[in-house]
Amino acid sequence: MTDTPADSPAAPAAPWPQPPPSPYPALAASITGTVVLPGEPGYDTVRRVWNGMVDVQPAAVVRAAGADDVAPVLAFARRTGLPLAVRGGGHNVAGNGTVDGGIVLDLGALRTVEVDPIARTVTAGGGATLGDIDLATAPFGLAVPLGVVSGTGVGGLALGGGVGWLTRAHGLSVDNILSADVVLADGTQVHASAEEQPELFWGLRGGGGNFGVVTALTFRAWPLPAAVYSGNLVYGPARFENALHAFSAWSADVPDELTTIISFLVPPPEWDQGNEPIMAVGFAWAGEDHQAAAAVVNRLRDLAAPDAELVQPAAWLDWQSAVDDLFPHGSRAYWKNTSFNSLDAGFIDVLARRAREQTWRGTGFDLHHMGGAFGRVSEDTTSFPVRDARYWLNIYGFWSDPADDVHHTGFVRELAAEADPYAGGGQYVNFMGADDPALAAPSVYSGGKLARLSALKSAVDPQNLFRRNHNIAPSAPEPPSVQRQ
Ligand code: FAD
Repeated sequence: MTDTPADSPAAPAAPWPQPPPSPYPALAASITGTVVLPGEPGYDTVRRVWNGMVDVQPAAVVRAAGADDVAPVLAFARRTGLPLAVRGGGHNVAGNGTVDGGIVLDLGALRTVEVDPIARTVTAGGGATLGDIDLATAPFGLAVPLGVVSGTGVGGLALGGGVGWLTRAHGLSVDNILSADVVLADGTQVHASAEEQPELFWGLRGGGGNFGVVTALTFRAWPLPAAVYSGNLVYGPARFENALHAFSAWSADVPDELTTIISFLVPPPEWDQGNEPIMAVGFAWAGEDHQAAAAVVNRLRDLAAPDAELVQPAAWLDWQSAVDDLFPHGSRAYWKNTSFNSLDAGFIDVLARRAREQTWRGTGFDLHHMGGAFGRVSEDTTSFPVRDARYWLNIYGFWSDPADDVHHTGFVRELAAEADPYAGGGQYVNFMGADDPALAAPSVYSGGKLARLSALKSAVDPQNLFRRNHNIAPSAPEPPSVQRQ
């Protein structure tokens, strides 16, 4: 043993604690896709989502190359405890396709679409856009019920609901899902359908991404004519009340082939419709018989003659992308929605007055005519709420200047509050804004659905790994069985 003299030089100080090695090289090595970190080329592009108000800095954006990349990313999120966002098309209005300081699992490369024209089925990757699907099905004269803007991701849209121009003829997107390939929170891959994992299959169809990462969805597709009878009857501000009362009477009795969406907005300059608010009654007829369609539309013309109109058969791909330019990537957005059982006179007054007051571009609101095939699906078949809704109001923003945030969000909130006394209940998760969070869930899912969804969540995601969504918290002590394969 050697004594150290008191005045001898001190032993070298212990080195400063070193930061732990970055976990990201190991993550990158475990997948075929790529990991994009802050400061790296492309990061500023891949961190962004459609809603420009959601300007956050994820710790990493993982761009999956295939379904096998999903489980390692979920394992990484579980291990590190970092929040996880799953991104399909990145169009979520609340910005749930990204997360500040967390991991974004970007499925945007999973865009393959396979069509079986004989069986009339379509299988799409979990990151496909609506445009990808329409492009693949159109050559076969087929269409899947989807939404109305082609850049929207089918992942988010179809797991939440999927309302569009075929809703009354063939139901929501969720009503046409035949099966889903899902990676659960623990990394297990399962196939969900009416026969396999039926409870998971139920929850996926309306539960909005709460239960797993969907790497592929198989849909039923429907025949459509090469040219779809479609168009808009347009009314000016002085006619709003009259046209809405006419629409209320007319829409009580129209065939299921006809789906109508009324839009109130100041049209963009390129529509050449002036600078005043308009009420555009848009419609599409999902059938061959254009004469029958014209006769039905004429009944509305007879009740309320439009101030202008553009009605002509359109190629499905053109119709499905007709309003794309209105909603560019990076738009600032705040939306609210609810359902209605009828168009009461008081509700019509609110809509007409608010539409007249909306003299700017950057907000609008749509009234979707529901019923038809949508209403014939029983309440218990899917987790989507309020099957007896006759109309659905969606109030939406799509402005560009941050200085207008207060004005536009204020308009959306005020109209939603004024419409609320007439509402039939329920909300559609995909039309909800960032401040309509988990706490709103009881008002989203009608009946006993929330308890059933929570029980399912407990079974498949007890740690709530998938919480960057309109969250359904795990709760049930006796979860329904979900078999791991
Ligand atoms: P993302 O931001 O990528 O994801 C949305 C949510 O779904 C997230 O919580 C995410 O975790 C989850 N998710 C996405 N993909 C998957 C997956 N593969 N597996 C598991 N979870 C996933 N809705 C309609 O019904 N009809 C319309 O006509 C319509 N039009 C729209 C037009 C515009 C311009 C916009 C912005 C939205 C529109 N929506 C419409 C709403 C749309 O359905 C939602 O915004 C939807 O969330 C978008 O899905 P996404 O995959 O693009 O979004």
